[in-house]
Amino acid sequence: MENWLNKRAQLSPQKTAIVYQGQRFSFAQVAQKVHQQAQLLQGLNIKNQDRVAIFGTNSLETYYNILALQQLGAIIVFLNIRLAPNELAYQIENAQVKFCLVDSTLTDSAISQVPQVHLISRQQLKEVAPKSYTPAAVDLAQVASIMYTSGTTGQPKGVLQTWGNHWSSAINTLLNFEVTSQDAWLCTVPLFHISGFSILLRSLIYGITLYLEPHFDAQKCQQLLVKEPITIFSVVPTMLKQLLEKHTQPYNSHFRIMFLGGGPIDLPTLKSCQKYQIPTIQSYGMTETCSNVAALKPEDALRKLGSSGQALFSNQLRIDPPNSVGEIQLQSPALAVGYWHNQELYQSKFTADGWYKTGDVGYLDAENFLFVKGRIDQMFISGGENIFPLEIENVYSQLPSIQDFVVTHKKDALYGAVPIAYFTSSDRNLQRQVLQNFGRQHLAHYKVPVEFRQIQQFPRTASGKIQRTALPTLKFKLL
Ligand code: AMP
Ligand code: MG
Repeated sequence: MENWLNKRAQLSPQKTAIVYQGQRFSFAQVAQKVHQQAQLLQGLNIKNQDRVAIFGTNSLETYYNILALQQLGAIIVFLNIRLAPNELAYQIENAQVKFCLVDSTLTDSAISQVPQVHLISRQQLKEVAPKSYTPAAVDLAQVASIMYTSGTTGQPKGVLQTWGNHWSSAINTLLNFEVTSQDAWLCTVPLFHISGFSILLRSLIYGITLYLEPHFDAQKCQQLLVKEPITIFSVVPTMLKQLLEKHTQPYNSHFRIMFLGGGPIDLPTLKSCQKYQIPTIQSYGMTETCSNVAALKPEDALRKLGSSGQALFSNQLRIDPPNSVGEIQLQSPALAVGYWHNQELYQSKFTADGWYKTGDVGYLDAENFLFVKGRIDQMFISGGENIFPLEIENVYSQLPSIQDFVVTHKKDALYGAVPIAYFTSSDRNLQRQVLQNFGRQHLAHYKVPVEFRQIQQFPRTASGKIQRTALPTLKFKLL
């Protein structure tokens, strides 16, 4: 295939490609800028399949760097800007990165976190003598990007995402949402995460406008959604909750999809969306599937509240063991081809008959709609009973005084393990008795947390997920 940006610039040169802080650029203008940037990068002698890291915020510079690296056929290694120095060093080393492009919007202290040897700043790039290049074609079988994902154990793994993976993911999403050239997608999630990068790629493939924001600001997004003809907005659960708090007036009349991914959502939040007539589409996916692998269709969103939808067109889901609550397994052309330098581990994630074991637990209803129950590795056994924290969390999220509620477990001499909860609440006088009684009304008694630990704030990852591994280090007030 022809390079996606160049193809798009030929097909719809005048169409607005990106809106960034009030500035608008057409695909032709973007192609021109990217061409200049690619000549500079070529001056650094970046070759096809070289790994080049991007360490940047959601800036225009990051946007152009991504596209310029694609002109040269380099494999982009996306670095999370919130990583600690040792984590960055590990990923840069592991991916055998030739250069790391750092964004000038980052502070010196953020940049000092990156191991110095590979750094290229915009300033340095300006001093490079530009060289001509031949735009790299898109080879569907080739790796386009590497994103590191951390499990609960061991080092993070570099997920190998091919052009073909991204292509099928984009086409599946297009079919599900019936995207047209009239759509416009707001991106406030990080470009270094699959949730953000996939929007950038969709904009090229579909020929639609990308509204890029440096970061998520609920107030600003509320205004944008009212004033601008944005039709789709990608959010993770914590963003959606903050957005609802700022909801003062309906969004623009073209708005049609609040695209929710990245983690579980509670029913009360979905019901608030319903109240404000915000069409919210839940989805299920992971870095390894290059964005959503299952999602609701707009017309099923209300009928199947709480479900993550059906497998998208080219994907298949199954539950192991079948007809029960069990592990979610899948097959998909969007499924990554491996972990960088760790194929053994990747292969161990497949069943003998070739299905990818997600490590998530859920079930399919009679119409094959997926309901996610939680992660296998968060499950624990209390007195012989399997407990999924997510189920308990969903129940407690219904309490208006609770902001976030996370369940984990502690060792117990009698039961092996018992549930405990960390939560945030604006109510300083919340009583233990209230929480306990509420749990007992809605859950089997063995699922009711034995301790309620009130904290100020949850530590989160760049994608908004609560960092469960940090929970034991938090200061809390025991109710
Ligand atoms: P990541 O490993 O960061 O790519 O995130 C993917 C993980 O997020 C999945 O394996 C799930 O554990 C979780 N996740 C994604 N979508 C959902 C959903 N709709 N409901 C519950 N958990 C989800
Ligand atoms: Mg994962």
